Amino acid sequence: MPSTDPYGDLVRSPLGSRLTGALGLPRPAQLRRHEADTPDITGTVLVLGEGAGAEQARTLVAAVGAHPVGEPPAEGGLTGVVACFDAVAHPGELSATALALGGALRALGPSAHVVTVARDPEQAEAPAERAARAGVIGLTRSLAHEMRRGGTANALLLQDGAALSDAGPAGALAFLLSARSAFVSGQPLPAGPGTPATASASPGATAPLAGRVAVVTGAARGIGAAILRTLARDGATVIGVDLPAAGEDLMRLVNEVGGTALALDITAPDAGRRLLEHARTRHGRLDVVVHNAGITKDRMLANMDAARWDAVLAVNTASQLAINEVLLAEDARDTVAADLRIVGLASISGIAGNRGQTNYAASKAGVMGLTAATAPVLAARGGGITAVAPGFIETEMTARIPLLTRELGRRLSSLQQGGRPEDVAEAVAFLASPAASGVNGTTLRVCGQAMMGA
Ligand code: NAD
Repeated sequence: MPSTDPYGDLVRSPLGSRLTGALGLPRPAQLRRHEADTPDITGTVLVLGEGAGAEQARTLVAAVGAHPVGEPPAEGGLTGVVACFDAVAHPGELSATALALGGALRALGPSAHVVTVARDPEQAEAPAERAARAGVIGLTRSLAHEMRRGGTANALLLQDGAALSDAGPAGALAFLLSARSAFVSGQPLPAGPGTPATASASPGATAPLAGRVAVVTGAARGIGAAILRTLARDGATVIGVDLPAAGEDLMRLVNEVGGTALALDITAPDAGRRLLEHARTRHGRLDVVVHNAGITKDRMLANMDAARWDAVLAVNTASQLAINEVLLAEDARDTVAADLRIVGLASISGIAGNRGQTNYAASKAGVMGLTAATAPVLAARGGGITAVAPGFIETEMTARIPLLTRELGRRLSSLQQGGRPEDVAEAVAFLASPAASGVNGTTLRVCGQAMMGA
């Protein structure tokens, strides 16, 4: 896609960099993203903290191809830090690792990833323990605001019964340390034990979705098209779904990645059944469902009409509920994998709210709600359901926003830039993969730590 961010391009030119530096203007960094034939995690990763977590972190860092160290190297150039707070039981115990982390920040290279590791505060009973664990999230969110040169900071939250070395946390740690999470910052990511990794599921595997069939709705353009390409890159056989009117674009895309197309309005009463039949007859199985199709019909609530309200709720939320019901039914078991992974597209509007978007925010908060409520059903069969909440992403939709609002949307985030459809697609691909077997019911924001509704 041609650049839609001329200011970002200017800042990254030598003259623009000097000019914007002198004027104290935002200077968004070039983010390091996934590149073909380049490892997603390389270089030297500092591991901080005492106890079991730190020991396991060193092993995991080495397993994904990076070099773990215990002290920041004098020459700098760290690609990541894993700061383990998993044993803290009182806020007074945070300082040693927090301050060691602070002391290492000047040794970070560009696009470095800091991951703090703590146990989930919501699962602590003692007030002091919960305070300490919640404190790790607080410090991580603030550190994410302080990161420079395209760096990110995220908190990995170990669920009850999970050790960092288990498949679930290990897969999540690898994602957060990698170039694939370039636009994820300031976020907590809870991970349970997960299911033991097969070779294709181990962190860093090149084709984690090999042998799997994945369906993506709204796949003809924008974020959906990026998701389709990314899942195919990761080895999946893909089914692209979109409205009949988008048929030509969809055909071109599925031909490019060797998948199949299904022209379907996802709000049709038989949409779930037709999707299941397509998977059954054309591919014989279905392992991943990405509910990406979504629409906006913005109006202030005072001017809202039933047609606008109903259309947004029908496409964005009700279709996900109805399709999930068909795919999770007993009679779909011959086609739908027991370890089915479902990923729904939410939005930060559904978290923070947005002027003119009561219908859209209701629909996207609804996606997060249905995701959390369906999680136990998926857990019982060995699968998972999650959601991704994108922030400002450079698409045809956001290119139409008036210039000033668009500039604010981009710059009011820790990374001071809009994300790309590929950034959302990378998060979806991770959540759809066996590496995310420990992640269930969660909504992950891909927003560069947008300041609205943090
Ligand atoms: P887009 O409008 O570019 O693409 C949406 C696709 O969905 C289109 O191809 C459209 O034809 C298809 N679609 C719409 N209604 C459909 C229906 N009834 N049946 C089948 N297909 C249908 O949107 P996008 O910007 O790529 O957004 C993709 C998803 O991400 C949406 O759910 C959106 O709400 C969400 N999102 C986007 C952003 C952003 O900044 N672009 C931010 C937050 C969330």
